[in-house]
Amino acid sequence: MNRRVRIEIHGIVQGVGFRPFIYRLALKFHLTGSICNSESGVSIEVQGTTGDVDAFIEFLPRDAPPLARIDELQIFELGLKEETDFLILESTRSNRANTLISPDIATCSDCVRELLDPTDRRYRYPFINCTNCGPRFTITRAVPYDRKQTSMAVFPMCPACQAEYEDPFNRRFHAQPNACWDCGPQVELVDRHGVRQSGDPIVEAIRRLKRGAILAIKGLGGFHLAVDANQPDAVRELRRRKNRGEKPFAVMVESTLIARTLCEVSADEATLLESPQRPIVLLQKLTSQFDGLAPDGNQLGVFLPYTPIHHLLFAHGGSNALVMTSGNLSEEPIAIDNLEALSRLGDIADFFLLHNREILLRCDDSVVAIRSGMNQFARRSRGFVPSPIRLREPLPPILAVGGELKNTICISRDRYAFVGQHIGDLENLSAYDFFQESIDHFQNILEVQPEIVAYDLHPGYLATQWAKQQRDLRAVGVQHHHAHIASCMAENHLTGQVIGIALDGTGFGTDGQAWGGEILVADLKSFRRAAHLEYAAMPGGTQAIYEPWRMAVSQLWATYGEDWRSKVPATFQASLSAPKVRIVEQLLRNGTKLPLTSGCGRLFDAVAALVCCRTHVSYEAQAAMALEAVCESGGDKGAYPFEILEAESAADSLRISTRPLFAALTEDLRHNTPAGVISRRFHGGLVNVLAEATTLIAERTGLQEVCLSGGSFQNAILLWGLEQKLAKLGLKVYQHTLVPPGDGGLSLGQLLIAANSL
Ligand code: ZN
Ligand code: ZN
Ligand code: FE
Repeated sequence: MNRRVRIEIHGIVQGVGFRPFIYRLALKFHLTGSICNSESGVSIEVQGTTGDVDAFIEFLPRDAPPLARIDELQIFELGLKEETDFLILESTRSNRANTLISPDIATCSDCVRELLDPTDRRYRYPFINCTNCGPRFTITRAVPYDRKQTSMAVFPMCPACQAEYEDPFNRRFHAQPNACWDCGPQVELVDRHGVRQSGDPIVEAIRRLKRGAILAIKGLGGFHLAVDANQPDAVRELRRRKNRGEKPFAVMVESTLIARTLCEVSADEATLLESPQRPIVLLQKLTSQFDGLAPDGNQLGVFLPYTPIHHLLFAHGGSNALVMTSGNLSEEPIAIDNLEALSRLGDIADFFLLHNREILLRCDDSVVAIRSGMNQFARRSRGFVPSPIRLREPLPPILAVGGELKNTICISRDRYAFVGQHIGDLENLSAYDFFQESIDHFQNILEVQPEIVAYDLHPGYLATQWAKQQRDLRAVGVQHHHAHIASCMAENHLTGQVIGIALDGTGFGTDGQAWGGEILVADLKSFRRAAHLEYAAMPGGTQAIYEPWRMAVSQLWATYGEDWRSKVPATFQASLSAPKVRIVEQLLRNGTKLPLTSGCGRLFDAVAALVCCRTHVSYEAQAAMALEAVCESGGDKGAYPFEILEAESAADSLRISTRPLFAALTEDLRHNTPAGVISRRFHGGLVNVLAEATTLIAERTGLQEVCLSGGSFQNAILLWGLEQKLAKLGLKVYQHTLVPPGDGGLSLGQLLIAANSL
């Protein structure tokens, strides 16, 4: 009995070695037919005995290449045909582009072996790649993914490379960026004036790093600034020149083995480190060896080499650990172009390791932590973008423009939401340009023209202003924390009403205040604010974010009034500037005009200022990280009390008062209770009261599903504690594993709400 079928596959199946895999699989089962890339993925026809066709269908998803992602596989029965071969056909072009471009993928082990093999023709070639690895997203101008649409178009293949490219049994069959010493891009080392340095560029780069120089290194999605991590002076100098404050640096290490000497590395974390996406993984520090990299907190961002250039820098007598930080000045977008890098990074880097393969799209390193055995993104970018989030239902094309900090955009097409790469903080102009570029690029590669734009309600956000200026787009405003919860719902395929706990630093509330300690009853259309942390005055407005002592004084004032000074240790007061404190007291006394916040981040700031002496910080969440880092585990150390105040009317929400907390905490401070114990009691108390408020809301609404979202959930103690507690109470808890819980995940939620509120 013979059978012929057509198999339509949707997903990431182009540029990942899928066609040669199918070709070999067809030959294995003696099948005739064909495969071609279609705009909707790939289309396969096979014919043979029923048994062979069945086996082919069974093995296809099971043995697919590592980078392929099959989202949908449909089978259609066809009539038999006269044919003798299996053919790989040229790409077709239909009306609708449904194919997905693969993200950039770390150099695979086969390529690394060749790279370091003196007998291989690509020995030490800095752009070695194959169908299973190499650049994709960052070198692609347009779909379909073909060499002529990439920045490799200017490098015609030599006969040897061309032969590999055309051979279905070769690892480089249809590897679009295929290249070698004879035909491909080259590296060069120049000084900050652009003057070419003699000698082998890689060897000379290593030599300079060893001497403590700062190098700008062109990578996949942009430039890195690199120094030898083992040289504290070089690290300090990089921090100074980059104007980096105390913000942590990530470190690229030669191998997982080296990572294990610095940090605790679980099996899950090792897998993530070594994954083809090669993100920066946040690991628990074991030693204080690299304390200069991450002065606060007990975590260090660690990653492994992911381009041939990185491997070469480690292979030839280089250091075993390099600080690798985005090539930019503080929060500007990462530099990608050679001339741009020389002009923008010329005051930071001593030397530049350049190459002539153009980066078409900026894409920073991704940052991921393992939380409760699952991925939690701090930043979703290289290696993951543009892989889409699969939605529960198809949506019309919508653009969501995200928030202000850690901005990302998101565009829907059918059942997919494409969350773009990390853009950064839109406060600066170059990030705003990148934001607009990114919108254009995604519309272009997805071939969609959204008619709806979703934005955050904050009138001051640049993304919001951009959205409102679009005359031809219908604009839908979405409340910040509602978007956080909807984002968590979207990736978990939830559609009904849920209880959403949204904790973060700040987000514009419907009453014009800065929200951020919210429990919502929400669906994808609307929400009700069911409970929130009681408002605290923010003396000095946003200045309070960088001077956490202001929030501490505000909370103490709310608890004790004028008498607050007698309730805290003299050391705290001594650490403050007396004239500034007097101004803040005056502001609090007059009270009326002060901005208010229910932000969880601001509560952490207040506690950290008192407990960890973090009176000033150089980046948001720094104080909160320090507080988490000192937290003592083990044993029952108790928990601080909060108080839940009932709403005056049904339309109003529960308020979580922090007064009992500060009363108990200052008592502990006066008794010299260790910071680690205070931090534990604070975390414990916050978990308790959030669980208690959630239980009340669950009883009153009958809802059982709880979504956790917002940047504060990057705090592992808070996330783990709340998750456990709520689960014990019989509630079903959902969290983020596909997009960040922080503002990088906002755009996805905005998109879903806009779609459902039409
Ligand atoms: Zn490879
Ligand atoms: Zn070649
Ligand atoms: Fe937020």
